[in-house]
Amino acid sequence: TPRKRFGQNFLHDHAIIYNIIASLEAKATEHWVEIGPGQGVLTTPLLQQVGQLDIVELDRDLVALLKEKYKDHSKLHIHSADALRFDFSALAAPNEKLRIVGNLPYNISTPLMFHLLNNASCIEDMHFMLQKEVVDRICAAPGSKKYGRLSVMMQYYCAAECLFDVPPESFDPAPQVMSAIVRLIPHQVPPIHVDDIALLNRVVTQAFSQRRKTLRNSLKKMIPEAAIIALNIDASLRAEEISLADFAKLSNIYPEYANIDG
Ligand code: SAM
Repeated sequence: TPRKRFGQNFLHDHAIIYNIIASLEAKATEHWVEIGPGQGVLTTPLLQQVGQLDIVELDRDLVALLKEKYKDHSKLHIHSADALRFDFSALAAPNEKLRIVGNLPYNISTPLMFHLLNNASCIEDMHFMLQKEVVDRICAAPGSKKYGRLSVMMQYYCAAECLFDVPPESFDPAPQVMSAIVRLIPHQVPPIHVDDIALLNRVVTQAFSQRRKTLRNSLKKMIPEAAIIALNIDASLRAEEISLADFAKLSNIYPEYANIDG
């Protein structure tokens, strides 16, 4: 029986499972990693296509089941571990790029994506099942209601594309919300120069903490209006209208003002 505390919603819709596997276009030369394999509905078809497969599962009972189920497979390695603390870069051979897939537990999806993106040099791409709401926020462009901190930070690290939606009935138990598959391709070179990602995160978080305020007001305690204008950024705009490139410029000048009292 699925365990709620591990975010277990097992896929049982064969058409969806087929579509996910087809969208991956996995090849026999590739090294794949699956996060949260559960009972192995994606693992089994993936194993038939790839060169090497590492799977990372937290639930020890499922790990025991998977070890029994796949005991004769030499190209599969089972890791009994927490994906949030797992060193994915240790799996990749020198110059090797990993391809990643996971029907993730929704409660850990955001920290897990950032954990992976912080080691992105060994990652070719990632495919995740997430809440559709989260996929929409990751992919949102400036001007959209869904555009926010998650959009800006994720788009700094990677190109994101929503592949298709997955309805609740495809899972056992059915979650409350619609899900979707997203493809994330880490940028080999950042799209824009950022001196310090932690500062970018601070500026973006502050700007979106009061979505309805203009930048002039929401950033008042961080960056003076004159400095915003000097960057050619309209201080009367709201955060949801500001591009990643402009947030990058704001974060790069922020240290000059960081010590000024507000
Ligand atoms: N892939 C399976 C499927 O599609 O039916 C299971 C998906 S289920 C939504 C999420 C899986 O992730 C469960 O097997 C759960 O035990 C596992 N899991 C939960 N937290 C985890 C963590 N921190 N690290 C690794 N696996 C985790």
